[in-house]
Amino acid sequence: MKCGIISVGTELLMGQITDTNAVYASEHLRSLGIDVIYRYTVGDNTERLKKTIKNAFTECDILISIGGLGPTEDDLTKETFCEVMGVPLYRDEKTMMELEDNARQHQKVLTDNNYKQALLPEGAVIFYNGAGTAPGFAVEKDDKIFICMPGPPREFISMWENGVEDYLKKLGNGEIYFRVIRLFGKGESVIETDLIDLIDNQTDPTIATYAKEGECTIRVASKHTDPEEARRKVDDMTEIICQREKDYVYTIDDEPLVMIVGRKLLEKHLSISCCESCTGGMFASLLTSVPGISEVFDRGLVTYTYNAKMNELGVKEETLSKYTAVSRQVADEMVTGLHKKTGSDVCVSVTGLAGPGGGTKRKPVGLVYIGCIVRGRKKIVKLNISDLGRAWIRKYATLAMYNIINRMIDGEKIPPM
Ligand code: ATP
Repeated sequence: MKCGIISVGTELLMGQITDTNAVYASEHLRSLGIDVIYRYTVGDNTERLKKTIKNAFTECDILISIGGLGPTEDDLTKETFCEVMGVPLYRDEKTMMELEDNARQHQKVLTDNNYKQALLPEGAVIFYNGAGTAPGFAVEKDDKIFICMPGPPREFISMWENGVEDYLKKLGNGEIYFRVIRLFGKGESVIETDLIDLIDNQTDPTIATYAKEGECTIRVASKHTDPEEARRKVDDMTEIICQREKDYVYTIDDEPLVMIVGRKLLEKHLSISCCESCTGGMFASLLTSVPGISEVFDRGLVTYTYNAKMNELGVKEETLSKYTAVSRQVADEMVTGLHKKTGSDVCVSVTGLAGPGGGTKRKPVGLVYIGCIVRGRKKIVKLNISDLGRAWIRKYATLAMYNIINRMIDGEKIPPM
């Protein structure tokens, strides 16, 4: 089954709103085993919408439209679809009664425009709107299916969950089962090279790699009428990939690194403190996104100047002047000082050159040192992060801190990152 999504609304074209509904639909269609092959965005314009529908139906079996179902003049999706597909409209009495009840409750008088919402395509499966007034519907005609849904996300999601999804489930030939493996410390192109034999020969399951803000993800997916068969194929391939990339994989369940670390700290009752230079509090801020982390998160210090490093953490003046702030020795003294001060089970420090200025041949922009102590075991890790800008370096350094902690908690070695 090939599906297209048509989002209707001039606001979308003008960049005033983001098409969150289409993203939601894409994600959910994928798990139903329905392939989305096109996504279109069209303004509130009948002629362009007609052209888009005709064009999309040359390849798609199903079209799902979002928006333009309301009562106003520029809401034209339903009428345009019905005209193109040659489906007449009739007045739906249930919708009429709901509109009248709603108007009575809100002491409003219905206008001709409102009655327009009660006109529905003949032979349609109707999805009544639990969160608003405009009903949605699905029409099957000449081996094609069109589904029209309202634009407001609350109405869209409610209709999806309470009608559209069940309707679609009956159409898809099998469900897609997939896993998302996440890795840190290796770029997408290197991973692709590592897995090239698997990727080149892929048919079932399929393997796709994606780069994502310093991390890399691998999606392994399979579609079968028998869900067990799909699960088995995906799990077998996941195991092969994890074996090859064991030093870099941190989850096969598409979970962010910070959540994994947060959960481990809470489960093992490990207290944590951090001291940050170049990341300026990003590590601490991210950690507070974990629900319940106050049980174990003691403190985060931002020690930017030499003075702060000396006063707060006991870093020696000689160490700073001899090796400079961005050095293995300073990262070590920072984390040792933090551990002495807090006694936390997990302590982490970071110092680095985020640029754009300040780099030298010996100490280039992107040079970062991370110090980490987990239950008395200490590691100082040097990173040479690619200079893709200040924001990138700081983000990458923050994730690297989490990666190191994650691996040290599990007693695993730290690979080059
Ligand atoms: P209504 O019954 O409210 O008129 P409608 O189906 O006609 O609903 P639109 O008028 O197209 O929908 O959009 C209403 C509002 O819904 C928009 O202003 C926007 O805030 C939101 N919206 C519309 N389409 C999308 C979309 N694709 N993704 C996210 N939000 C959307």
